[in-house]
Amino acid sequence: MVTNRTFTILKPDSVEKGYIGAILEKISVSGFRIVAMKLTQMTKADAETFYAIHNERPFFKDLVEYMTRGPIVAAVLEKENAVEDFRTLIGATNPADATEGTIRKLYATSISENAVHGSDSDENAAIESAFHFSGREIF
Ligand code: UDP
Repeated sequence: MVTNRTFTILKPDSVEKGYIGAILEKISVSGFRIVAMKLTQMTKADAETFYAIHNERPFFKDLVEYMTRGPIVAAVLEKENAVEDFRTLIGATNPADATEGTIRKLYATSISENAVHGSDSDENAAIESAFHFSGREIF
């Protein structure tokens, strides 16, 4: 099933470095429509739940610290084939491996501090959107 929505986070490093505007511009000119958005901060419990799939990984503790250390921008994006197209737009997890012109190539510093999150499936896009937004906050 191909849905038309994905979920993204502009991670704390993007907010700290003042990249919110540039990244949203890139998202917008790439054909995504913002249907929900907020500046917020994840609690430790939020981050542990959001990244529960990685809780056995050696980087988990650092990941939770990173994701909770400051505000993030959470957003729901709409576009045909949104999940796959947004993963292409953000680039590989490690910016060193990311294609030129992708958001991570442009704005990420390392495999851990990699600027943005993008859902990896339609199912996770729905779960992650519902984690951050109520139905009435999605337009
Ligand atoms: N991550 C990390 N070290 C690693 C792999 C991942 O710190 O070796 C972090 C990184 O912030 C990444 C997040 O964990 O975005 C989730 O990892 P995943 O493999 O799901 O990558 P993504 O889907 O974000 O590209």
